[in-house]
Amino acid sequence: MDSRYQDCTLLHVDADGFFAAVEQALDPALRGRPVVTGAERGIIAAASYEAKALGIKRGLQLHEARARCPDLVVRPSDYEAYSLYSQRLFAILRRFTPHVEEYSIDEAFADLTGCGSILDAPPETVAANLRDTVSRELGLTVSVGISLTKTLAKLCSKFRKPNGQTIVRREHVPLLLARIPIDKVWGIGPASTARLRVRGVYTAAALAGMEATDVLRLLHKPGYDTWSELRGRRAIALDTTRRVSTDSIMKGHTFAPPSRDRDFIFSEALRNLGSAMAKLRRHRQLAREIGLHLRFADYTGWGDAAGFPLPTALDTEAIPLLRGLFDRLFISGSTYRATTVWLGGLMDEMCRQRDLFEETPERLGQIRLHETIDTLNARYGQCAVAPAALLDAARKPWHPRDATPARYDTPLKGEGARHLSIPRLTPPNPV
Ligand SMILES: [Mg+2]
Repeated sequence: MDSRYQDCTLLHVDADGFFAAVEQALDPALRGRPVVTGAERGIIAAASYEAKALGIKRGLQLHEARARCPDLVVRPSDYEAYSLYSQRLFAILRRFTPHVEEYSIDEAFADLTGCGSILDAPPETVAANLRDTVSRELGLTVSVGISLTKTLAKLCSKFRKPNGQTIVRREHVPLLLARIPIDKVWGIGPASTARLRVRGVYTAAALAGMEATDVLRLLHKPGYDTWSELRGRRAIALDTTRRVSTDSIMKGHTFAPPSRDRDFIFSEALRNLGSAMAKLRRHRQLAREIGLHLRFADYTGWGDAAGFPLPTALDTEAIPLLRGLFDRLFISGSTYRATTVWLGGLMDEMCRQRDLFEETPERLGQIRLHETIDTLNARYGQCAVAPAALLDAARKPWHPRDATPARYDTPLKGEGARHLSIPRLTPPNPV
């Protein structure tokens, strides 16, 4: 606890109409005008406050929006710019405290604990200074909430928007909660909302007033954490790992002996793709491009690349492109010794906001399927669940380089299956 701030140190920053605001910051001629982004998809991805005032919201079809507002400025999404502004916003926040969680492209949590003597100002002044700095340096406005926990701070930042700030100390928490409908609480989704409403719980205050055992039974651990946070007890830790972005991901593998078996070589490329895509998902990124390089036995080689119709981290969307590249590059009768797959044009998953309307039910189903596969592979070993074509990896004759240490057959206590490669995709060691 910071003696200056007592326990009111959790800060939430939310940029106002972020994508559209960045467009306005980049082109001052757009300030004060209704601006939307999403021209490339025909659906509005973000709307400036001027556009919102005219009833133009995210998700609206562009032709409908133009009919409503003939002066509408429509811009294509420029994710590089949004990502850059996002990093600048977080950098400004880090001048106030080192404890920053980059929650999404335009939202962050921060903890002022321990910063009281350095900032030497009450939370109201800290919030005002932060808003001033962002507006002066980036030309954007942000809304700031400060309270006892992340959940409370997130409610506060929404309270006065845009360009507002709300600080709620312990004694005023009940006043805040009484005004918040239950479905506006961070972490309470439609299913929990329905379950709570059936029991007559309509406000955040009513949820906070429930018995712990009832909350646990009804909403399980995540709901219980939300309940604790509404009551002013911290239950959701700050995740301060930085969302570093790399420019490209490359996965290659040399096999011995060299091979001319088309199915085997494709299975090698497919395996590289699988691990590159898994890495992409671990880093919460999406790729815009895929490349394949084939190396001949004489160490010369060639490659080609293709663009994805939509940025993706899904194997099922990448495999057809990989197949196309492979069919273009592979020469029957040639001998190969390596394949390399690379993914380029990487962007933060956060840039494609989760609720964007490009997400068809089929695609959302695919995203869930891949999450499940990643979970299974983390538990049972890389490729525990993998495309059937990977079985062709076993077509290669065994080579001493394929040998796995004998110890792999008996994992150490507590050792995960990650490195144990179940099922084995290389032929078993001949005994
Ligand atoms: Mg925002």
